[in-house]
Amino acid sequence: MVVLSGKNLSEKINSQTASKCAEFEKKFGRMPSLVVILVGDDPASQTYVRNKRKTCEKLGIKHFDITLPSSTSQEELIDCISSLNLDDRVDGILVQMPLPKHIDENAVTQAILPEKDVDGFHPQNIGKLLLGQTGLIACTPKGILRILDEYNIETSGKNICVIGRSNIVGKPVAALLMQKGRDATVTVCHSRTPNLSEICKMADIVIAAVGRVDTVTADMVKEGAVVIDVGINRIPDDSKKSGFSLKGDVDYENVQKKVSAITPVPGGVGPMTIAMLMENTFLAACHRMKVDPNTLTEVS
Ligand code: NAD
Repeated sequence: MVVLSGKNLSEKINSQTASKCAEFEKKFGRMPSLVVILVGDDPASQTYVRNKRKTCEKLGIKHFDITLPSSTSQEELIDCISSLNLDDRVDGILVQMPLPKHIDENAVTQAILPEKDVDGFHPQNIGKLLLGQTGLIACTPKGILRILDEYNIETSGKNICVIGRSNIVGKPVAALLMQKGRDATVTVCHSRTPNLSEICKMADIVIAAVGRVDTVTADMVKEGAVVIDVGINRIPDDSKKSGFSLKGDVDYENVQKKVSAITPVPGGVGPMTIAMLMENTFLAACHRMKVDPNTLTEVS
């Protein structure tokens, strides 16, 4: 059984991104830059924003945090995004979700210039992803594909069961895996799927993105399957300083005995999501400077 270490892979990718960013700086006299907007004081969101900042600092990516009170109106937030869209020093803009209830997340996502949408959530980027065109690809699905590539896990002709149909994980990862070149047969399951267990058992690869512990148990996976656990669930744990520990959607303890490969939580998909955000920031910077990300030479 292989433990698919997103942590190790993310470190490798981050160091490649750092070198590319340093070359970018040599050429353009500035580092790629990312602005992260946090509205309100949700503790999990604060942790995610802090981790993004730390990784930017490690890689040398220029980073600005904008923290707004939870009373911020939708109009104020969109005004803030509009000025960042126009700001030449800014390559990437990310609004940390979830937003307070009175703000429409779709309206906010659509306010970000697609070229600066490093999360890959803008309808234009999601549309391109669906059409198999080049655009900024959502970080978590992109990270999942990179894990599969790194460990030479074949997707062509395989049955893949995606559990969860969210716009940020389930739908885009399913769309990516069914593209020409990936060639998987994808089934997307969700809360209204009556025979999840049956479908899951037929899958060569299971991708769980639900947000509920033990959604995937050993009896639901076939021998030798590959399991990608996207879930991040906080479980109260007095032995931890934070008061909680993290668990995925998969019953790791028992499932790992049956499968050929599995991502751990933590240390699997999570660090890959941040690594892809860093890479997307570099790609957005190259796109804005009209240079090829591989050679940093001008594209016509
Ligand atoms: P979401 O709440 O938007 O979607 C959850 C999906 O699960 C829904 O489509 C729902 O239909 C489905 N679902 C709910 N109960 C189900 C059940 N009993 N059986 C089958 N399907 C069921 O969540 P999301 O934003 O896609 O996130 C899912 C999980 O992944 C969360 O734990 C989240 O924290 C985590 N996540 C992790 C990363 C990462 O970087 N590792 C990134 C994004 C999300």
